[in-house]
Amino acid sequence: MIYDFDVIVVGGGHAGIEAAYAAAKMGSKTALITLSIEKIGLMPCNPAIGGVGKGHIVYEISALGGLMPKLCTKTYLQVRMLNTRKGPAVQGLRLQIDKYAYNTLARETLKQMPNLTLIEAGVQEVLTENNAVTGIKTNAGDIHTAPTVILTTGTFLGGRIHVGLENYSGGRRDEQAAPAGLTQCLKDLGLRMGRLKTGTPPRLLRDSLDFSKMEYQEPDVLSSLFEFYPHKVENTRACYITHTNQKTLDVIKRNLDKSPLYSGHITGTAPRYCPSIEDKVSRFPEKAAHHIFVEPEGASHDEIYPNGISTSMPYEVQLEYIRTIKGFENAIIAKAGYAIEYDMVWPDQLTSTLEVKSVPGLFLAGQINGTTGYEEAAGQGLVAGVNAHLKAHNQAPFILDRTESYIGVMIDDLVTLGVDEPYRMFTSRAERRLILRQDNAFLRLTDRAYALGLIEEDLYRDFTAEKNLIYDTLAQLRQKYTQAQLIKMFGEFECDVETLKAHVPQASERALLTIYAEIRYAPYLEREEKEVAKSKQFQELIIPADFDFKSLPGLSTELQQKLAKHKPASIASASLIPGMTPAAISLLIFRIRLYSNQLRVRKTI
Ligand SMILES: Cc1cc2nc3c(=O)[nH]c(=O)nc-3n(C[C@H](O)[C@H](O)[C@H](O)COP(=O)(O)OP(=O)(O)OC[C@H]3O[C@@H](n4cnc5c(N)ncnc54)[C@H](O)[C@@H]3O)c2cc1C
Repeated sequence: MIYDFDVIVVGGGHAGIEAAYAAAKMGSKTALITLSIEKIGLMPCNPAIGGVGKGHIVYEISALGGLMPKLCTKTYLQVRMLNTRKGPAVQGLRLQIDKYAYNTLARETLKQMPNLTLIEAGVQEVLTENNAVTGIKTNAGDIHTAPTVILTTGTFLGGRIHVGLENYSGGRRDEQAAPAGLTQCLKDLGLRMGRLKTGTPPRLLRDSLDFSKMEYQEPDVLSSLFEFYPHKVENTRACYITHTNQKTLDVIKRNLDKSPLYSGHITGTAPRYCPSIEDKVSRFPEKAAHHIFVEPEGASHDEIYPNGISTSMPYEVQLEYIRTIKGFENAIIAKAGYAIEYDMVWPDQLTSTLEVKSVPGLFLAGQINGTTGYEEAAGQGLVAGVNAHLKAHNQAPFILDRTESYIGVMIDDLVTLGVDEPYRMFTSRAERRLILRQDNAFLRLTDRAYALGLIEEDLYRDFTAEKNLIYDTLAQLRQKYTQAQLIKMFGEFECDVETLKAHVPQASERALLTIYAEIRYAPYLEREEKEVAKSKQFQELIIPADFDFKSLPGLSTELQQKLAKHKPASIASASLIPGMTPAAISLLIFRIRLYSNQLRVRKTI
């Protein structure tokens, strides 16, 4: 069969952009078919990219030659490094973005991309022969053929928007849902589908807010952002913080019956870690002051995003509770907040390349796989784009392991465990987070990306020089000094950049951080290796059926909950639970052996 394209990407959101960019860059004749070319790369919710865990993904996208970091560096409004009081492994770079500039730059970059054709249409059918993909059909009846199709339909598949007790079909604010028929087509292909929910706060007019009553949020000045090369940060915009209070809570409580979340109108599962203000009030009724980050949506736009109060209450209720908040007393709502329910595919039906197991050639990426967030979508888009290209050219697949990347952790979680609520990335999901740092993302991934043709020659040359400098410096320092001396010289808790720089004046700030992290974490990494070995030794250890996972001192509540939910029968099964670090497994082994001993003693008595 002669195909029109090698790869067809359906959807121009954050997953679709990365998928199309990667496939076209690798040389595939690629089509990006999307409902609106104008709206490629739009951010329907928080105009910010990065953060702890999510920022790690963006660094990895950068190390793999993706587009998101390049767009961020050119369109940010404010820069912050989160978690700076903690070690380098769990810090997260977060950029406030001018969402209009981002969306324009994404669209214009893709328009100029060789091998890539942008098509404005709604896809309503995935075409197959003998259950393998052959192309797609649009709602206008046009057929485009390809051996691989990547669906990245976001919140548009079966999308239903809720504001108060009213609801209507839609993919996002002011946008139509995906053509009816696509969900049925996927069901006909044998896929199990589910329904999830997310929401967004109202947007407020800048001039109607009193910033003098809010707390000013200091931006950071950093010398590099997500990209490999240093970046001079300038012209950052102010963000502010305010809080909800008892009056806000009272308004919300009084009107809970008007929220579709509580009236039974919404049945889809919402993200636990991104709750609406209604959820916060119901779950923590004693807490009055919830943080609201007051963030601009664009440099020359009047709308402000009040981060932390997403809602699906009716407009009048939104206005009433907004005006109880300090600085928002005279706020004018430019756009009401809303919730959206949408169809998704349970991701345990996919392989690690994001291809549907039962439909060769069909790949899925982004929100359709049950994730939430631009970064999670982009990471998956990149992996799907690379693999669709490889499949179309009969080449071996590209799989990211969970020990080498957060993207690998995310995909492994999705395809092995599936999801039961919108999935977002946290550093706690990774077992080996001392290794998966922001600073070493290039060291972990860029060689592999270069081999795939995703990295430009000059960038690879400069990366290789930095890599050699890091390893040579570490070898020389370790030859000259003991571990204790190194820590004393370069800082016990944080890097003494100046002293380290005196040893390696030619190193970039990132390289210095990597050298420091490798030194600082060396004893922990060694201990981790021992714990991994111990957990291997005890893989067969049976966990007694009545073992109480909920009272394990030393283990995080999240891990205790996960264990209680999955009730693993052995250490081998417990090790498969995402987030079970070697240290956690070690502790579990200790507790089980203690418990079994106590049982034995009791029986003897
Ligand atoms: C109201 C709302 C609130 C949100 N809140 C949060 C939040 O609090 N935190 C968070 O992390 N994330 C939030 N998100 C999610 C975030 O927007 C998504 O996770 C991210 O955009 C997903 O990227 P994606 O590429 O999968 O899909 P999207 O960015 O949604 O892009 C989907 C694309 O596919 C196109 N498309 C869909 N179906 C078809 C079709 N059949 N044919 C052609 N084109 C099609 C659309 O036009 C669109 O371009 C929210 C989203 C919405 C809408």
